[in-house]
Formats: sequence, C-alpha cells, structure tokens
Amino acid sequence: MPLTDSLVQKLVVLGRVTDEPGKLTRTFLSPAMKRANALVAAWMKDAGLKVRVDSVGNLIGRLEARQRSSLNTSHLEPKTLILGSHLDTVRDAGKFDGPLGVLLPVVALAELKRRGIALPFHVEVIGFSEEEGVRFASAYLGSKGYCGKLTAADLAMRDAEGISVGDALRKFTNGKFSLPEPAHKRSDLLGYVEAHIEQGPVLEAEKLSVGVVSAIAGQSRFKLTWTGQAGHAGTTPMNLRRDALAGVAEFAVGVEAIARRTPGLVATIGSVIVSPGAANVIPGQVVHTLDVRHARDSVRRAALMQIGRLATRIADERRLTRRWQRTQENGAVGCAPKLTATLARSVQAVQGKSISLVSGAGHDAVVLSSLAPVALLFVRTRDGLSHHPDEFTSARDLDVALRVMIDFLERLAAENLDNR
Ligand SMILES: [Zn+2]
Repeated sequence: MPLTDSLVQKLVVLGRVTDEPGKLTRTFLSPAMKRANALVAAWMKDAGLKVRVDSVGNLIGRLEARQRSSLNTSHLEPKTLILGSHLDTVRDAGKFDGPLGVLLPVVALAELKRRGIALPFHVEVIGFSEEEGVRFASAYLGSKGYCGKLTAADLAMRDAEGISVGDALRKFTNGKFSLPEPAHKRSDLLGYVEAHIEQGPVLEAEKLSVGVVSAIAGQSRFKLTWTGQAGHAGTTPMNLRRDALAGVAEFAVGVEAIARRTPGLVATIGSVIVSPGAANVIPGQVVHTLDVRHARDSVRRAALMQIGRLATRIADERRLTRRWQRTQENGAVGCAPKLTATLARSVQAVQGKSISLVSGAGHDAVVLSSLAPVALLFVRTRDGLSHHPDEFTSARDLDVALRVMIDFLERLAAENLDNR
C-alpha cells in the first residue's frame, strides 16, 4: 500500500510539529502552526496545487479544473469543490484529529495526478488555522474567516496573555488585516467535504473502517446553580435539610433517564462544583454544567422542556432555588443529501457497505455549511479515543478512506462532466 504509506508518513511527520516539546500542541498562529503550514504547503505543491495562506492563517491549496475541450461548447465557469479540515490541535493531542482531513485529499490528488486524471472542477484543499478553541476558548476562527463570518466580537476575544484575536491577526498580516469577505459565492461551489476521525465507538462496534455522516448534532449547554442551605452535618436532622447536592444528584439521574428513553439524545453533566465543600458541612450550593445534543433540533428542544420540568419538581420538593444560564446553543447541521449520497456510493463501492452516523462533535463543516453543501466522512478511531496522544487510526482504515476519497473525486467528476 505505497499510497497509504505516504499518508501515514505525512501524518507522522506532521505529528512532530509542535509548540511543546514531548507532546503535540499546535495552537492558532503559533510558531508550530507556521511550520505546519510550510510543511503541508510543500506536499500540496508536490500534488500539483497552487498554495497560499489567507489573512487568518488558513493554508489553501488550489488545483484548477482541466481545460475545456474544444468539443465542449459550455461557457460556464467550472465550480469549486472544497476539501479539508483543521491543522491546529488541542494540548497533548493525537496526530489524526484534523490533519487527516487535510492530508487525505492531498495524497488522493497526488495519486490522480500520477494517473494523469484531471478533474472537471476546481479543488481547494484547506488546512484551517483554528478549530479547537484552545488559544481563545472559542472555536472555528479559521473556517469563520474563510466563510466571511468573523465578527468584531470574535476579534475582541483575548488569550491568556491578554492578546486579542485582532491584535494577533494584525501581527500575523504585518498590519494589513481587515475582516475577510467570504472566499466564494455559494453558487460557485460544488460543496465542502471533510474527512475526520469518528472520535466515537460506532464504527468500531460495526467493524467498519469508514461511515458517512447524515447530520451534525445540535447542542445546548447550560450552567446551573442550585442553592439550598449549608449547615452542620452532625446537628441538622435530615427532615430539616435543604441539601443542594442531593437535589443535583436526583437531577443528574433524572436527566440520564430522559436521555436513555429518547433515541439519539445524549445529555451530560460533566463538571460539578460543591460549596462550601467540606466533609462536615451540608452542601449549600452546587454549580454544574449540562450539555444536551441531538441530530434534530425539535427533539433536543422537547428534551430540554422535560429536563426543565424535572428541575422544577426537584427544586419544589427539596425547597431549593435554581438558576439556568445558557452558555452555548448551536442548531443541528444536516449534511447535503446529494453530495452525501455520492459519498455513500463511494463508501459502498470500496467497503461493500455504507452506514450513516450522526456526529456528536462539531467540525469545520458546521461553519462551512453556511457557505456550501457539506458532506462528512468518518474514519474509525481505536477505542473511540481522541484529544489524547494515544488517538489511533490503523493503516488499513486509512487505506479504505483514501480509496473512498479517490473514488468520490472520480464519481463527482463523472457527475459534473456536463454541467460545468
Ligand atoms: Zn477535529
């Protein structure tokens, strides 16, 4: 599998480009991100792409459509297919999350070039500069820049050292930064296709290398504060207590039950802070997070209503007060039916079977869906593990993903021969 070897080797080499010795960490506009861009740019050029970096640090490799033949009388400009993912990482990351979706199309296009196959549409392969939200605690700065979605509020966010996004970008562009326009008009695009590790256990359970995503789950996040009465753990009888933690415990089990009986719903209380937090004091206040996700917004909203009623009942019965604060709200993103069907046919052809998955995590495709129809290919991850140095996808699975990408490009070329 020389082609797969080339992909594996690139993933390994890129996985060594880091800001922190001994572990893989690459954050927005960091020295390692610049070195990563230079490295991937060289591979893009080898594959025949023309490379540039935009004003928010996205690496863009462009391959022009083949020249129209004299037989083709159409004067329509060929459309553009966007492929890619992000090149930034979390702290102490694995080497597949993000880079896979950039390097897979680079290797696929290099192979098409070797075979002498030219595509009837333009291709842009993008390594987005920021997706993980590490430096500024806000995700998608790269794809938002590409789609013309960056706002003044985004530019005002500051990192741990007090540097704003705007200042960082002005420095990056030698003072020439202005808010970018969308890189394309929607009507000029065939779509955006992203390959990404699954970061979950479904493909492993199904014993499949790849699967096609039908939708990216919508998500609501809250911070809840429950207040009761702190008191002496030895002298306050049980019937006189207003224990905030006991109420939250009942709430957590109730939320779990709602999620279990709602197909496809996931709900998580991931962080709990108990005050005063002493062994001999009844918990007077508890602050915790709640994260609720589903592929259909109506199901998520209905579940949130149930969860709200549950909280009211528990608070009344236990004489607690509670406060909800919504910290994040993203609607579900449906993948484009036609593009996804083409991708599924490629998966079917290469793997013999195609299954459809919901993405519980957000990806660059969420932002790109504002600009283009999107499709998302998931590749199996060992033990569903990601955001960890042990994150792993086997060469066999990478080989399947690579053959799917090549088949997909050829299939899309056949579909677009007539309507350019
Ligand atoms: Zn990712």
